[in-house]
Amino acid sequence: MLVLKKDQKKSSTFLDTTNTKASNIKSLYREYLKSMNNNNRKSSVGMFSPSMLAYCPRQQALKFIGADTSPTKIPNKLRLILEEGTAIHDLIQGILKNIYGDLFIPEVTLISKQYKISGRCDGIFKFDSGAILEIKGIGKSGFKSLYKPKEDHVRQLNTYLKITGFDIGYLWYFCRDDLSDIMFTIGFSQELWEGDYKILQDIEKSIEENKWPVRDDGNCIMCRYSHVCKSDKLPRDYLSGTKN
Ligand code: SF4
Repeated sequence: MLVLKKDQKKSSTFLDTTNTKASNIKSLYREYLKSMNNNNRKSSVGMFSPSMLAYCPRQQALKFIGADTSPTKIPNKLRLILEEGTAIHDLIQGILKNIYGDLFIPEVTLISKQYKISGRCDGIFKFDSGAILEIKGIGKSGFKSLYKPKEDHVRQLNTYLKITGFDIGYLWYFCRDDLSDIMFTIGFSQELWEGDYKILQDIEKSIEENKWPVRDDGNCIMCRYSHVCKSDKLPRDYLSGTKN
């Protein structure tokens, strides 16, 4: 029988490993992947996220005001794909660290109080005049047709460039199936930044007017706000501290 144990200190679920039957090992494995839907990365309230720029404006608003989060509904197969992407990041960042030493800093948190934006880039190169690195894992069919960088990734990177003042960044794509890679050099675009900043300003204005921005339900499976996005609560309910 599968037994789940709660580790109160870490607030995450651990699985009992006393039963060594093959069927139990597979059950534990599946349950563990499922339990990862409960993992919750703390996000900064009052800050917009560059990685969400191209996605649901309502999700961006709910994050901005610090709405309660709920477990995601990511199926195990997709979870493994996401973890594969994380493993590729770790591998490449480790290699770059070995090559460049102190001239490469992995996982850098970037914050702009002026623009109310907070994000985490995959790395910063500290030589020449500096550059940002974003690593992306992608499936074989997507990789084959990748003749230019994806728009959402460019917008994310462009925002990092605005925050840091660096002129260029690199979007480095890796095929998850065979680790083929392609790198694009991206220069800062003021026009793109102005368009994206306007979107964020409109979201903030909408919150101030106690209205929700529109929904884009193309990626709800990854969203931690699905339980509140269709509720009767309005932005005011959160801003006045009555969210519970
Ligand atoms: S559940 Fe879907 S529509 Fe609602 S906020 Fe999240 S991504 Fe947007």
